[in-house]
Amino acid sequence: MTITPLMPVYPRCGVRPVRGEGVYLYGEDGTQYLDFAAGIAVNALGHGHPALTKAIADQAATLMHVSNLYGSPQGEALAQRLVDLTFADTVFFTNSGAEAVECAIKTARRYHHANGNPERHTLITFKNAFHGRTLGAISATDQAKMRDGFEPLLPGFAYAQFNDLEGALALIDANTAGFLVEPIQGEGGLATATPEFLQGLRKACDEHGLLLVLDEVQAGYGRTGKFFAHEHYGIVPDVMAVAKGIGGGFPLGACLATEEAAKGMVIGTHGSTYGGNPLAMAAGQAVLDVIQGEGFLDHVTTMGDRLRASLEQMIPNHDHLFQEVRGKGLMLGLKLKTDSRRFVAFLRDEHQLLTVSAGDNVVRVLPPLVIDESHVAEFTQKLSDAARVYVPASDD
Ligand SMILES: *Cc1c(COP(=O)(O)O)cnc(C)c1O
Repeated sequence: MTITPLMPVYPRCGVRPVRGEGVYLYGEDGTQYLDFAAGIAVNALGHGHPALTKAIADQAATLMHVSNLYGSPQGEALAQRLVDLTFADTVFFTNSGAEAVECAIKTARRYHHANGNPERHTLITFKNAFHGRTLGAISATDQAKMRDGFEPLLPGFAYAQFNDLEGALALIDANTAGFLVEPIQGEGGLATATPEFLQGLRKACDEHGLLLVLDEVQAGYGRTGKFFAHEHYGIVPDVMAVAKGIGGGFPLGACLATEEAAKGMVIGTHGSTYGGNPLAMAAGQAVLDVIQGEGFLDHVTTMGDRLRASLEQMIPNHDHLFQEVRGKGLMLGLKLKTDSRRFVAFLRDEHQLLTVSAGDNVVRVLPPLVIDESHVAEFTQKLSDAARVYVPASDD
């Protein structure tokens, strides 16, 4: 037998964390790492946040799970808060980002079905998008590395260039249901939507009776310094997928929608055994208390500005290696002139600094949202120490 007990679908590295504290992770051998990956934008409150761990422990001892066949005071309370804080009128809770995207796709299809237009089933999505790993979510991206060998995929998707408004509009036909788009592509390399692009998609939806479905699984929940990234653009979606930061490490996601967009999602059309159970809701409440706390989003903006400024300052000193900074708030990407995977491994193995590589040779910088200036300074020191001695592979 050569297959590992854990199905070998991840290229797992030598870091084997067993404990976390704030912005630091500790490996099996006691090595301390500065965690500017945050479980890929999940650990918004860092590791071991006292309010979050207490909420989970208390709720686990009180009531962990009941079926969605029963009334849910816990779910109603968190959904009401999200409705009060956003464009949405209604929320479906999931256990992951891909499930939130699935619910969003189903909601969009059912909307047109309920309107008597079942032929309007195609979502226009974008090249290099990442929406998760279910069959629906991989059908919604053009990325071959995620799709190959899993055909036949789900019909009903068309692919335009990200930030190419005209190209996207040109794909609209009698079968179009709407657009599914990330305001900032995470996995794809931190491409950031231009205002003209997102606002143009919104306008086209209004003109053609289409739905704007945003995937804010990575960019949402305070990551960019606004509660949701679309707030930077002065637009609202009709449907939105949320996850990652929403549970601060507890598996939780959500699909938010307006009453109009959710008109087809009636009794029996969708479900999830675990989705929104009392334990998940307790985690969600604790995270939201912190994110909505006085000054928290401003703190993210301030830290994001500091971090961006130090990255930008570093570029001229290392211009053989660094090209540009992308992203917003604490969802930043450092575009390299060389392979980003190898550099991310070097930062990790030689400088105990955790980042995430993304498409297009980008180093993703996604610290917990609770970092302070000392963490920015420590990050900057580690990154410049690394850049000074790093030798790119000769074939890069
Ligand atoms: C991570 C991510 C997903 C998938 O979330 P999972 O929890 O892994 O299913 C979907 N969309 C975006 C934009 C993501 O970053």
